[in-house]
Amino acid sequence: MRDRAFRRPSGEEDSFPERRSTGIALPVSCILKISSRCNLDCTYCYIYNKGDTTHLTRPRVMSLEVARAAIREITEYASRNGITEAVVALHGGEPLLVGKPWMTRFLDDVRRMAPADVRLSVTLQSNGVLMDADWLSLFASHGVQVGVSLDGPAVWNDRHRVNHQGKGSYSRVRKAIDLLVTQGAESPPWGILVVADPRFPGTEVFRHLLDIGVRNMDFLWPDYHHEEGPPWNADLLGKYYIDLFDEWYGNADPGVRIRWFEALLHLILGGESQISALGAQPVTDVVVETDGSLEPLDMLRICGDGMTLTGLDVRRHPIERLRETELYRMGLRNQEILPNDCLRCPVYGLCGGGEMPHRWSKKNAFSNPSVHCESLLAVIEHIVGTVRKEMAFHAVTSRSNNAVAQSISG
Ligand code: SF4
Repeated sequence: MRDRAFRRPSGEEDSFPERRSTGIALPVSCILKISSRCNLDCTYCYIYNKGDTTHLTRPRVMSLEVARAAIREITEYASRNGITEAVVALHGGEPLLVGKPWMTRFLDDVRRMAPADVRLSVTLQSNGVLMDADWLSLFASHGVQVGVSLDGPAVWNDRHRVNHQGKGSYSRVRKAIDLLVTQGAESPPWGILVVADPRFPGTEVFRHLLDIGVRNMDFLWPDYHHEEGPPWNADLLGKYYIDLFDEWYGNADPGVRIRWFEALLHLILGGESQISALGAQPVTDVVVETDGSLEPLDMLRICGDGMTLTGLDVRRHPIERLRETELYRMGLRNQEILPNDCLRCPVYGLCGGGEMPHRWSKKNAFSNPSVHCESLLAVIEHIVGTVRKEMAFHAVTSRSNNAVAQSISG
């Protein structure tokens, strides 16, 4: 399962006060891998099906003792660094495999342990198979924001998102989404994550999500690198995202949100980067595994078996110790290690080289353009062009409105 943090799907983006005040990029979100196993076996999963085997040696479920140690360290780290808002993102494997009693105790612990000076929020990314009304009511009562993974209509979703017997997951996940749709407006916002596959039309995936009541969504760039490239022509993914953008941008309802596009528009208009996959910024993600291991960005494991192991444990080491490990330091130097092709690229400031793992090769490590470079360039230039046209149109309209106003008043 592709299960990256789906923070604030309402579009209420995280602020980064610590970056502005200190100039140092510090993580404000921490992923807790509370379950190391999954009840699905998605073909593209970066945990189970891209060569990493570290999950096999970890406990299936994080103990509450480790979970409490993680919460304690996250809040203390926040206090030590003057961070006032922190996000704990619950991931797996499939996080609902921990069971309801575990989750109830954990969420009670979070509420009890949250210090007055740190606003701690919890998000959860699930494959949706086990989600039922009781789970949703538990999450609503603790303000947990839920993300569910679905790749569109059954005919496409069930090609990749299958269980261990190869059976598609659509019908069960759809029940979870129907429950989310019928929740009251007072429930926390929720969203859907899609992993983009240009062999299926993104516009139809988008329309399907709209049809079933989804308002917040994101389309993740698929996990490949230079040792294992995507199984389609390079221009197809760019076209997928361009068509999707035009369909979304042309949708009159501003309440329908696609995170990657919104984050890019925000950057184009001069804002700060809101997601790790965009903008010229370091990679600062912190992950705690079920055995307490402290690790950098979990997606980096697609670059080699055991790539993210550090030897650190959240029960014994402060989060700052990650900065002493080679891989985490590379993430901090993410922009310095980019090749000249990226630094001279016309969209460098917006793209930032894309996702760090998508740049991997055995020869140059992360000093390559993204394996999706051609598509990123095409999509970003298309969106910049759309914004320019829109701004030029508004400038002309406002000039002609002024001229009409002057001729009337004159
Ligand atoms: S579009 Fe390609 S060359 Fe340009 S910054 Fe992104 S990855 Fe690098």
